[in-house]
Amino acid sequence: MAFEGLSNRLQSVFSKLRTKGKLTEEDVTAALREVRLALLEADVNFKVVKEFVAKVKERAIGQEVMKSFTPGMVVIDIVNKELTALMGGTNSKLARSNKPPTVIMMVGLQGAGKTTSSGKLSKLLTKEGRRPLLVACDIYRPAAIKQLQVLGEQLKVPVFAMGDQVSPVEIAKAGLKHAEDHGHDYVIIDTAGRLHIDETLMQELRDIHAAIEPDEVLLVVDSMTGQDAVNVAENFHQQLSLTGVVLTKLDGDTRGGAALSVKAVTGCPIKFAAMGEKLDALEPFHPERMASRILGMGDMLTLIEKAQSGIDAEKAKEMERKMRTAEFTFEDFLEQMEQVRKMGPLDQLFEMLPGANKMKGLKDMKVDDKQLTRVESIVKSMTKEEKLHPELLNHSRRKRIAAGSGNSLTDVNRFIKQFEDMKKMMKQFSGMMGPKGKGMKGL
Ligand code: GDP
Repeated sequence: MAFEGLSNRLQSVFSKLRTKGKLTEEDVTAALREVRLALLEADVNFKVVKEFVAKVKERAIGQEVMKSFTPGMVVIDIVNKELTALMGGTNSKLARSNKPPTVIMMVGLQGAGKTTSSGKLSKLLTKEGRRPLLVACDIYRPAAIKQLQVLGEQLKVPVFAMGDQVSPVEIAKAGLKHAEDHGHDYVIIDTAGRLHIDETLMQELRDIHAAIEPDEVLLVVDSMTGQDAVNVAENFHQQLSLTGVVLTKLDGDTRGGAALSVKAVTGCPIKFAAMGEKLDALEPFHPERMASRILGMGDMLTLIEKAQSGIDAEKAKEMERKMRTAEFTFEDFLEQMEQVRKMGPLDQLFEMLPGANKMKGLKDMKVDDKQLTRVESIVKSMTKEEKLHPELLNHSRRKRIAAGSGNSLTDVNRFIKQFEDMKKMMKQFSGMMGPKGKGMKGL
């Protein structure tokens, strides 16, 4: 998977930082030296790395350490925000012309994934209720027209083609006219590529551009080609004023440098990312989600924000201490459930945890209001001693609790089992968040 190396490197840098009680300038400098190396190794453009590191450093030094979280988290937060900014900040949407059809010209080197991405894009548009038309302008690559026609058939998207004896400019113009006449609201022009950039290709693309005045010129780049992808993007941008980039093959073993440099070097936003050969493997590119993925944090920041807004910091600290020291009781469990419930649906919260899918027991932990009420009645039927010492809950005590709370013995057993699982998980979780925790797995 893309970014794996970078992701691992960054996470190991941060795991060292997290154990620090205070964040000194030396700590930050040392960590950023490693971040710098990790980015260079991931094939991120040299200048981009330099600027990135400088920005993070400026923000990280002098930052007041957040009260409830480790200093490492502050740095991760800054890196996350800067990574997001580096990749364009927010999702950059596809243009939509006031005077349909919206014309999208797909350009790029041969093999980058232009034809495939044209098909995928038409599928995305169809899903949104649009009526795209694919236009086959690659008259040089022997099977290109056929390839587009086959894709069109699979996707049930019409393909406009005029064979390979008509000039691409004429095909593009006729395709546009066809779309206007047939009520298509998007036209996707698949143009020819070469193995390398050459003047003949560029001239042809400029001619098509002049003839059809596209709303979008999307450069399709193969992210496996690393720095080359960025050079190609720069070159195309100078000649054709690109409006966006489609990064392909992010599912491959790429180092990810292209994704991280392309926007910074060319100023062109990455609009889509292709992560596989299947026709639905094209997604709008979200810089913030990509950053979060690189940092292996799930959607941890949203979770932290939610926790900060929903939970009393002092209480949370006390709870955290209890979890760590195994003093966590049934009463605490109830209180914690109430607190967490304020943050949103539990299963959604769990999904934001990094590696949550790997945690055992989480699957059965969906707690809804009804279940919570049941759990409450079970806890309330326990004696004070039982609440503090779950190990006392033998069969006969459990039977008494079941009868007293109006639940079945199975319900009581299940809840006690969940409690134990939860306790184990919270111990792990507190290790991630707490000041003296043993460290967030993978962070
Ligand atoms: P074109 O010459 O630019 O039109 O490139 P094609 O669309 O023909 O794609 C070249 C090859 O790359 C094909 O075998 C595609 O299946 C493959 N390809 C395109 N996009 C992706 C992607 O996101 N992931 C993977 N793994 N392969 C892709």
